[in-house]
Amino acid sequence: MTHANDLAGQPLNVAPALAKKLDKLGLRRRFDLVLHLPLRYEDETHLYPITAAPYGQPVLVEGRVIAHEVQFRPRKQLLVRIEDASGVLLLRFIHFYPSQLKQFADGALVRAMGEIRRGFHGDEMVHPKTREVVDGTPLAESLTPVYPTVNGVTQPMLRKLIRSELQSLPLPETLPPSVIAHLQLQSFADAVRLLHSPPPEYSASQLSEPALPAWQRLKFDELMAQQLSMRLAYRARRQGRAPVVRGSGRLREALFASLPFRLTAAQHKVLGEIDADLAQAHPMHRLLQGDVGSGKTVVAALAALTAIEAGFQVALMAPTEILAEQHYRKLSGWLAPLGLTVSWLSGSLRKKQKELALEQMASGTAHLVVGTHALFQDGVDFARLGLAIVDEQHRFGVGQRLALKQKGEEPHQLMMSATPIPRTLAMSFYADLDVSVIDELPPGRTPIVTKLINSSRREEVVDFVHKTCSEGQQVYWVCPLIEESETLQLQTAVETHRQLAAQLGQWHVGLLHGRMKADEKAAVMAAFGSNQLQILVATTVIEVGVDVPNASLMVIEHAERMGLAQLHQLRGRVGRGSARSVCMLLFENPLSDVAKARLKVIYENVDGFEIARQDLLIRGPGEFLGARQSGVPMLRFANLEDDIELLEAARELAPEILARWPEAADAHLERWLSGREQFLKA
Ligand code: ADP
Ligand code: MG
Repeated sequence: MTHANDLAGQPLNVAPALAKKLDKLGLRRRFDLVLHLPLRYEDETHLYPITAAPYGQPVLVEGRVIAHEVQFRPRKQLLVRIEDASGVLLLRFIHFYPSQLKQFADGALVRAMGEIRRGFHGDEMVHPKTREVVDGTPLAESLTPVYPTVNGVTQPMLRKLIRSELQSLPLPETLPPSVIAHLQLQSFADAVRLLHSPPPEYSASQLSEPALPAWQRLKFDELMAQQLSMRLAYRARRQGRAPVVRGSGRLREALFASLPFRLTAAQHKVLGEIDADLAQAHPMHRLLQGDVGSGKTVVAALAALTAIEAGFQVALMAPTEILAEQHYRKLSGWLAPLGLTVSWLSGSLRKKQKELALEQMASGTAHLVVGTHALFQDGVDFARLGLAIVDEQHRFGVGQRLALKQKGEEPHQLMMSATPIPRTLAMSFYADLDVSVIDELPPGRTPIVTKLINSSRREEVVDFVHKTCSEGQQVYWVCPLIEESETLQLQTAVETHRQLAAQLGQWHVGLLHGRMKADEKAAVMAAFGSNQLQILVATTVIEVGVDVPNASLMVIEHAERMGLAQLHQLRGRVGRGSARSVCMLLFENPLSDVAKARLKVIYENVDGFEIARQDLLIRGPGEFLGARQSGVPMLRFANLEDDIELLEAARELAPEILARWPEAADAHLERWLSGREQFLKA
């Protein structure tokens, strides 16, 4: 087994220039070629008479060249006429090399593969694949695979490289025989051989059928590799050491006494789960999920108090300065009266303040430190960090797990997210985490009414803003996202602010955007929080976490440009108080199909889990996870929507394989993951 893997792991034996191109396809080790599977297949097993070939599908024809010419108008192109016993066909090449002219000498016998269509001058093929043959050259016996490729790597080159590895590499099983038998899986070697060089009896549609046993085998193996690596990550963590954190309950009681509300049953439940983890001697990695507004912050605060009671420090990290600042205010408000020190650390702090915060962290005088990424940068030391809390974890990307090791011990981690993770994703990419869910909203919330409004009716919207303010409520007005240009986005926000301030003269209108300095942003947020500003014009910087319960109207311009998660987050900024809340989604025609689908979903649903599920359907898991940014490789063959049964089987069997056949697990991971990024970056 080890020997087989050694060969498989060898780098490709090709010239450096080609190696560089193959690298772009993710082809580095010899075994990578085995897993480079066809996108589709072409049928070169059958020759059609020219006039009997069907239109609109790839066909192979053969004929003798009767004429060729290079035309210069309307653009340079090569025209070749071939003829068989049934009739004549025009081959048209817009791009061609001088060498191709030679191939088409009059009288040459040529095979052309392509789609025939009716052209102005009769039947033609545009850019067929051609080769010169001699009379009676045998046809392919089976379908020809077509591989994903890049410029400079032709299909014949790939076929040759792959064929040679299939012949020379041993392809042993990595999974234990009992697992293969139990799931009635095709053997790995048979599966890859079948897909690379299908036997003659297979049709192209059979081969692209996801239920084909060969595809099932590859998908299962891939999902199994993912499950094994996730379980190993989970195990490694459970073998790590963390401080045992048990609180006295004294500070918690004091906070409970000061809160104007009682916890919901769901908040109590998740707090119990967190407490149980904290009391263990290995690090907690728990994901706390709860829809927008479900009250995660207070749960974080209560968890922090337990750690503080036990003599530890707590760090709370948020993805944006605005959110971090808001948490700092809220948590100071709760904790300072209990005699605790809450510090604040962000990238934009002045040197003096920063030094003070760092000193408080290092000396241990700070009980809780709130901040942005700056919290976990080099040169930041805690005296005794016991718990790290990450808010809006999904904003940091799926692969991000904080590396917080210090002095042989790792603090506990609580990750919070309002972007619910559909079950399949939770079972795959988040499988190394324990998950708690707050599945109920605090009582007394009135549901948000969502309206879709054509932007031509903007005046009516402005009237409604006025009415809302007259009733003592506040309004968010979110400016369009302009991805191409931050400057343009800024201009739009400034212009919208100017217009609304002019139209709504009796109200105070504030402006918030990403280019403002941190203290300016904080000042605007504070003014909005205390109702000195009734209307807040903002870019999407307010997307996450901002909590102003008196705001009851959210207007979003160009909602069609935004993603579902973003719309759900923005809408969740209202509906936090007892007033009836409205979210107005302004859109501009024409709408793309995707935009239409998204607006329909957000209009029809309030439940974040359902929205996330639909989002996954519309976008696919790659974008859903934000994995492009985080660099986590996606599944190549398996698909979380369709292959749920395979995923469940892999999840169920992974622990058993690890326990009973650890060498098999190693070999399997080596085959699927070595040379590639891990599924998870810890
Ligand atoms: P999210 O889960 O989106 O982070 P927050 O923690 O910001 O939500 O909570 C939303 C609002 O609900 C806050 O104003 C918070 O103080 C309030 N809240 C939290 N828990 C309760 C509860 N049990 N009853 C009433 N209000 C609550
Ligand atoms: Mg929050």
